Amino acid sequence: MPSAGGSILYGMGPDGNLHHINDVERGEACNCVCPDPNCGQTLIARKGEKKSHHFAHKRGTCEWAAEYVISAVAADIVQRAGAIVFPKLTFKDSFTGSDETIAQGQSVRISSVRLVQESGRGNPDLLITRKASSGEVREFLVLFSLVHGVTRKQREAVRQTGRDSFVVDLNYLMRLRKEDLGKHFDREQILLGFQDPQFLSRILTQGEGRCMRWLFNARRSEAEAENRARHNEWLAEQEAKHKAAEEARRKREEEMRREAERRRRENGSRARTPGCGGRAYCRGRGTGQKSCAGSGARADISQARPAGKPGRGLARKSVDTLRAMRQGIDHRRFHDVRRRWSHQSRTMLRLRQKAAMIRRAPPT
Ligand SMILES: [Zn+2]
Repeated sequence: MPSAGGSILYGMGPDGNLHHINDVERGEACNCVCPDPNCGQTLIARKGEKKSHHFAHKRGTCEWAAEYVISAVAADIVQRAGAIVFPKLTFKDSFTGSDETIAQGQSVRISSVRLVQESGRGNPDLLITRKASSGEVREFLVLFSLVHGVTRKQREAVRQTGRDSFVVDLNYLMRLRKEDLGKHFDREQILLGFQDPQFLSRILTQGEGRCMRWLFNARRSEAEAENRARHNEWLAEQEAKHKAAEEARRKREEEMRREAERRRRENGSRARTPGCGGRAYCRGRGTGQKSCAGSGARADISQARPAGKPGRGLARKSVDTLRAMRQGIDHRRFHDVRRRWSHQSRTMLRLRQKAAMIRRAPPT
């Protein structure tokens, strides 16, 4: 159950008007009842020395008394001023996710104001009519929240009216006061302070409406719809671009794959050049032959030999050739050396030493 509305500054007199605590007799002699028609309890004017003067319910505080008083006093203030502050109007930008301003909070002239029961809350709402510069007359609904927040059901009821509406969130101010005052925070005192006409006048007719927020606004809906449509269009554009890039990439890869396949087939046919001997690793002059017919290209180790260890069937010389080539030794000179040394059955180590020597020697 929400906390009770607390003490009030105004009581309803027998004449049906609101009377400020300062204008009535002390105690039950004030002759006032709770202004909320759903309560209607007899009020007692507490005008002691210790606490601020206020009305107390005879049989215990009701829930909506404070908010009811605020709505009634606010209507009177707005009527007299002929103006009310409209809060800052923003919309959520779909591109950035941040709030974009449509209009700053400011005081606007109004034509009329009256109390209505449209949101289904315990306190009345303000129905404001305003003549725009275009001559169009529009209606706005103002809700007041202090002890009770605006529920989803009430919000829906407001939406059903189709009117632009905003809430004056005094509960937000209450929380700010609580943070400011800390242990000196006195809820009853703050509740009474919010019913003060001077305070309400400042909130409702001056400043930028920082404690107010729009619940529904046609301009905001339009801006959001327009922004969302543009965003969706942009998303579709980006998706199309992405798809086209993907397609191009896929085609390029396919092209490269075909090209590689073509080269592989071409190389395969070279290896089978008649007179070469058909060795798979034969790609040039590194095989011991001067050159096999049809394979004029320079040796390519990566293609001459499958990855990993040399194949079992490869001739010793070929393996050495590949090794020498990989080490950057001129393989023709390497084979000259090998030919000279092979008949003496030298070890591979010495061969390598010699090869290293050759590598170090300046080219002749
Ligand atoms: Zn009451």
